Amino acid sequence: MISQLVFAILLLGAGYYFYLNAAKIYRNIKLGKKIDRFDNPSERLKTMLLVAFGQKKMFKKPIPALLHLLVYVGFCIINIEMIEILIDGIFGTHRILSFLGDLYAILIGSFEILAFAVLISCLIFLIRRNILKVNRLNQAELNKWPKTDANLILIVEILLMTAFLMMNAADYKLQQLGVAGYHTVGSFPISSHLFAMLPDNSSSLISIERFCWWFHIIGVLAFLNYLPFSKHLHIILAFPNTYFSKLEPKGKFENMPAVTAEVKSMLDPSIPPPIGEVSRFGVKDVQDLTWKNLLDAYTCTECGRCTAACPANITGKLLSPRKIMMDTRSRLDEVGKNIDANKSFIDDSKTLLDTYIRREEIWACTSCNACVEQCPVNINPLEIIMGIRQYIVMEESQAPSTINNMLSNLENNGAPWKYAQADRANWSQQ
Ligand code: SF4
Ligand code: SF4
Repeated sequence: MISQLVFAILLLGAGYYFYLNAAKIYRNIKLGKKIDRFDNPSERLKTMLLVAFGQKKMFKKPIPALLHLLVYVGFCIINIEMIEILIDGIFGTHRILSFLGDLYAILIGSFEILAFAVLISCLIFLIRRNILKVNRLNQAELNKWPKTDANLILIVEILLMTAFLMMNAADYKLQQLGVAGYHTVGSFPISSHLFAMLPDNSSSLISIERFCWWFHIIGVLAFLNYLPFSKHLHIILAFPNTYFSKLEPKGKFENMPAVTAEVKSMLDPSIPPPIGEVSRFGVKDVQDLTWKNLLDAYTCTECGRCTAACPANITGKLLSPRKIMMDTRSRLDEVGKNIDANKSFIDDSKTLLDTYIRREEIWACTSCNACVEQCPVNINPLEIIMGIRQYIVMEESQAPSTINNMLSNLENNGAPWKYAQADRANWSQQ
């Protein structure tokens, strides 16, 4: 009875704490500006099924994709086991779903094989990160916490899978010894090989089985509550993020409605000038971004595929699209904490531009969209870069001199070059 009570308190506490942090993330995302991404639901659903469920874009690199798929499928399916753990924990039963007979044996067998595959995949991921030092997983923006975060989760997944297999191994041995309460429930294809590591004494076996059972459930609840603070939030957010991704061609830039209305009214006197002031052109801080940009920031897996494909980064420029997303999330978290502390946002003399992202990064972008194309969860760092550029140009008139020259040529000559319109055809007379 006491263990059932402890279990219920743990479950409720973990659920409530997760709800509190998830609500804060939702509130933070809603700080963004409105954008309509609710049109064309069938196309959106298709995108989500292909990109998030099917992991279509991951398969540009087949080996890591296969390992990631194993971890993803394995982790999701093994957590079906959680249904049984939850029922057993609340009602004090043991392997309640074993009444399913052969189906239960097949399920347990599949869970074990998947758990082993997850364990091996996580080990390989750890080796790639820390021993082989794959370039995109060892760049400057990952120093300190992001690197620890990635390793921590891989280690936790290995421990969870080990606990799951050890729990089954002890349980299976208890079944074989005919200990009361441990009735025979099919075969255990992986954990049966761990027998040699286990004692023959039934009370020690029960202690091991119980310890692993509690370790597994506490680990899963801790993992759930760690998600809001980790890049692994993408396990959940990849689905809405791909659903709400941009459906228009990647190269299509959005006009700024306020500017379009202003220009139209200047060109055609019959069109009235726009009513009201625009608070700010472009993006200086996270509140100037759209909610989708902010959802992108929380969804970023920090995988670095965008940075590995970025021509600016490859040629040694300061820009890394992954860092743009990580900076956006860090600043958004900071703004969220400011609101928590003060009830509403109080100016803290910091902004996304300059405090987090340097101008040199912003002007290094070629707007090629390679980062957008590569991202496995349809994140768009370019929208943030372009928004910041709009702010620098339209609010501060501080574009680099090369761009200012081009802008004044456009204004005077209708072309980016410094020749008068009348001289445009001169080249043909050479
Ligand atoms: S759009 Fe900009 S940030 Fe993205 S890959 Fe191209 S140069 Fe890099
Ligand atoms: S933006 Fe996409 S590709 Fe880049 S690090 Fe984040 S998840 Fe990976």
